Amino acid sequence: MSRLANKVAIVTGASKGIGAAIAKQLGAHGASVVVNYATSKEGADTVVEHIVANGGKAIAVQANVSSQADINHLFAETKKAYGRLDILVNNAGVYEFSPLETITEEHYNRQFNTNVLGLLLTTQKAAEHFDDKGGSIINISSVVAQAPIAGGSVYSATKGAVDAITKSLSKELGNRKIRVNSLSPGMTETEGVHTAQFIGTDFHKQIEAQTPLGRTGQPDDIAKAALFLASDDSSWVTGEAILAAGGFR
Ligand code: NAP
Repeated sequence: MSRLANKVAIVTGASKGIGAAIAKQLGAHGASVVVNYATSKEGADTVVEHIVANGGKAIAVQANVSSQADINHLFAETKKAYGRLDILVNNAGVYEFSPLETITEEHYNRQFNTNVLGLLLTTQKAAEHFDDKGGSIINISSVVAQAPIAGGSVYSATKGAVDAITKSLSKELGNRKIRVNSLSPGMTETEGVHTAQFIGTDFHKQIEAQTPLGRTGQPDDIAKAALFLASDDSSWVTGEAILAAGGFR
């Protein structure tokens, strides 16, 4: 139960969905967890309460990952609470689907600012905070980076960038024992997917039909893979793009 004893983890976008499940999973295995959120304080507080009620340690910190000032605040609060950093999960992300003719600057900037710029700025700060023991960075990508779908060119491009950044940084940071991997969920039932009204659509049914394991993913399916990448069980794994998609590709 203590694969992550004495480790400190930041999980961005952990107020709900996949991020919340990862934060709970890391907390249950002994990590002290910084539960980041952008707007959903109540959701983040609930995740913290869950971790603490199960004997773990956690705090909630508000920060928009696409703002440098907010990221500085996130890392300052982490240092103040726990004094070190070992694991960063870049999970905060937005997804919007637009056919080519409806793509706008706002649609592009919103997704690239959160999914790509936010991930880079947060990783930059984490690299400053990791000590000589190194660290593990887990970038939540998507199966659409490798299997883009019609109407999702901008979102797919953000996740293609995440995979490329992952490989590049694994080479750049390896000599400091910092491992960088991406974890790509297939369709996973989260608040975001419900808000986007994917569940029950023909699109959703089509994806399930093409998924060898025959179902939609649950946040815990992704969290278990994140635990592997966060822990020493993956000590020789870096620069990889791991799919957790029930075999969908
Ligand atoms: P979700 O339910 O919509 O939750 C998104 C989380 O990200 C929330 O905690 C939200 O915070 C946070 N967030 C959004 N913008 C942020 C920002 N600028 N700064 C900090 N936090 C921010 O999403 P999800 O479905 O769990 O997806 C999580 C990740 O998995 C994303 O990167 C997504 O692209 C990826 N993914 C999801 C699926 C899927 O099917 N669900 C599949 C493949 C990949 P607030 O609530 O506080 O605003």
